[in-house]
Amino acid sequence: MSAVLAQGLRKTYGSTTALDGIDLDVPAGTVYGLLGPNGAGKTTAVRILTTLLRPSAGRAEVAGFDVRAEPRRVRAAIGLVGQQTAVDEILTGRQNLELFGRLYHLSAPAARARAAELLERFGLTGHDGPAKELSGGLRRRLDLAASMILAPPVLFLDEPTTGLDPRSRAGIWNAVRELVAGGTTVLLTTQYLEEADQLADRVAVIDSGRLAAEGTPEELKAKLGGDRLDVVINDPARLDEAAAILSGASAGPAEIDRDTRHVSAPVADRVSALTRVLPALAAAGIEAADVALRRPTLDEVFLNLTTAGGDR
Ligand code: ATP
Repeated sequence: MSAVLAQGLRKTYGSTTALDGIDLDVPAGTVYGLLGPNGAGKTTAVRILTTLLRPSAGRAEVAGFDVRAEPRRVRAAIGLVGQQTAVDEILTGRQNLELFGRLYHLSAPAARARAAELLERFGLTGHDGPAKELSGGLRRRLDLAASMILAPPVLFLDEPTTGLDPRSRAGIWNAVRELVAGGTTVLLTTQYLEEADQLADRVAVIDSGRLAAEGTPEELKAKLGGDRLDVVINDPARLDEAAAILSGASAGPAEIDRDTRHVSAPVADRVSALTRVLPALAAAGIEAADVALRRPTLDEVFLNLTTAGGDR
């Protein structure tokens, strides 16, 4: 079953086209990543799917309800963690969660019990000061906890880890994984490729309001020319010669990173690339410090697919 379904979603603001006909299909119980550079249209898509914005054209269903015809039902089925945090600064985490529970019409004891459960689940116990004293990572976890008061089946996270340090980011990732293990469907937007790679079952790359690519992280990496051969050259003066050898023996032009003395090129056939490149380097007297065959990173996929890549 699809938890989120969008067909031909379009949104224009005057002469700006924020979304130019997007199709999405998010299976229930999975994490779906919307990946794109600033201004790609990610937030616009999330705002339409969460009923905060009406599409100019196209249709969307969330948890089986039409976002235009049944916005109240959609809202009852979703949680949203936006880029701005919703918690009260002066209240503690526990007080915040109890307050949200009461706002959602839970009885006082039920709100207390739910708050305690969520504090435990998101590793927030033992932080009894006002929310403004929480670190960025804990704050974001409190936002997540607040969005889970009613355990909505579909959760939207708009750039959940922007600005967090790696450790806090990992904490959020774990919290998201736990939610999904419990059956929640998560649609998240991110500018971080690693985040999509770590969390998402499927990824849609959005660029200038259009879908540039869609698939599992592995499919997207495979689509982009398959494997790459990476060679680290000892003598920095011989990088260009090494690149010429790699270019001649592999499926595409080699790239040079002079800082790390890496030369890398896409390869069509792993074995023949290795058996041709290494003897050719040796014959030219170029010493390699390291050789590796690897999949492209999601970064390389992303840069190739989006205008962000074209600019660099
Ligand atoms: P970010 O990561 O910066 O939030 P995004 O991918 O979420 O980027 P959107 O916020 O959806 O991008 O914006 C998509 C495009 O629509 C941008 O060109 C933006 O300037 C434009 N846009 C968004 N909201 C409005 C608005 N209310 N009025 C006019 N243009 C808008």
